[in-house]
Amino acid sequence: MKVGFIGVGNMGGPMCRNIIKNTNHEVIVFDLNPDAVKACTDLGASSGTSVADVAARCDVVITSLPLPKIVEDVTLGPAGIAANAKPGTVFIDLSTNAPATARRVAEGMAAKGIQMLEAPVSGGTARATDGTIVIMVGGDASVFESNLPLLKSFSGEVIHLGDIGFGSVAKLINNMLAFCNAAAAAEALMMGKRSGIDLKKLDMVIRNASGASSGYANMATKAFAGNFAPSFALDLAHKDLRLALELADELGVPGMIAPQVMNLQRMARGMGLGSADSSSVIKVYETALNEEVRAK
Ligand code: NAD
Repeated sequence: MKVGFIGVGNMGGPMCRNIIKNTNHEVIVFDLNPDAVKACTDLGASSGTSVADVAARCDVVITSLPLPKIVEDVTLGPAGIAANAKPGTVFIDLSTNAPATARRVAEGMAAKGIQMLEAPVSGGTARATDGTIVIMVGGDASVFESNLPLLKSFSGEVIHLGDIGFGSVAKLINNMLAFCNAAAAAEALMMGKRSGIDLKKLDMVIRNASGASSGYANMATKAFAGNFAPSFALDLAHKDLRLALELADELGVPGMIAPQVMNLQRMARGMGLGSADSSSVIKVYETALNEEVRAK
C-alpha cells in the first residue's frame, strides 16, 4: 500500500521513519523543510512535490503538523487533502488539535468519501523514535481496526477512545496534566536549589517517591543539563494548553491550576523562549531568582 506522510518534523519524522523500517509500504513524504524530507528519503521513502501530489497518490495519508490552522489548510484548503485524494482514501491526523477541529475536518473528508481517524500521540521525540509512542484514536471502529497494523508499526500502545473528537479530548487532558506536573517540578527544583540540598540526591528521592511523574523526570533532565533545545517547543505546548483551557471552559470545569501554568508559559514566551523546549519555563524562576538549576 502507498502511505503518504505530510509533516516530518520532530515527531512526524521519527514516526515516519519507523513506518519505513517496520513495514513494506511504499512511503511518500512531504514537508516544507527539505532537511526533514531528506532524513526520510535517506531511509527509502520517496518525496512528493506538494500536499496535493501526496494526497492524490496514496491509499493512506498521515499528517503530523504544528498548529490547528495549518491542519485545516492542509486538509480542507483548496490545495489540500480533501480536494485531491481519491474517494476511499484513509486520512490519519497525528497532530494535536481541538476536538471541534477534528470533527470539522472529518466532516470535510467524509463529504469527499475519505474516512478519517484523529490520532494524537504522546511520549515525545524519544518514544516517537524508539517506536513506543501512545496513540489516542477517535473515529469509526471498523476504520480503526483496519488501520491498526499501520498504527502499531510505529507505536507501543494504540487506544481507541470512540468517535472523532475523543482522541483529542484524551490528548488535551493528558497534556494539561503533564504541563501542570512539569511546572510544579520547576518550582520544586528551584526550592531544592535554594535550600542547598544535593540536587542529584533530591532527584534520586523524587524519582523513587510519590512526587515522580514523567513531567518531573523530563524537567529535571533538561534543567540539570541546561539543555533546552526543542524536542517539544514551548509554542506547541502553549497551543496544547490553550486548547485544553478552551475545552475546560466549554465543559464548565473551574480552572484552579492549569491557568497558572498558562501564565508561566506566557512569561517564558515573553522572554523569547517560544521556540525553545517547553521545559524552559523553569527559566522564569531562574531569571526571577538569578540562580540556575544545574547539576552533574
Ligand atoms: P515540528 O514543528 O517539529 O514539525 C512539524 C513539521 O510540519 C515541520 O517539519 C514543518 O516544516 C512541517 N509543516 C508545517 N507546515 C506545513 C505544511 N503546510 N505542509 C507541509 N509541512 C508542513 O512539530 P512537532 O513537534 O513534530 O509536532 C507536530 C505535532 O505533534 C503538533 O501538533 C504537536 O502538538 C504534536 N506533538 C508534539 C510532541 C513533541 O514532543 N514534539 C509530542 C506529542 C504531540
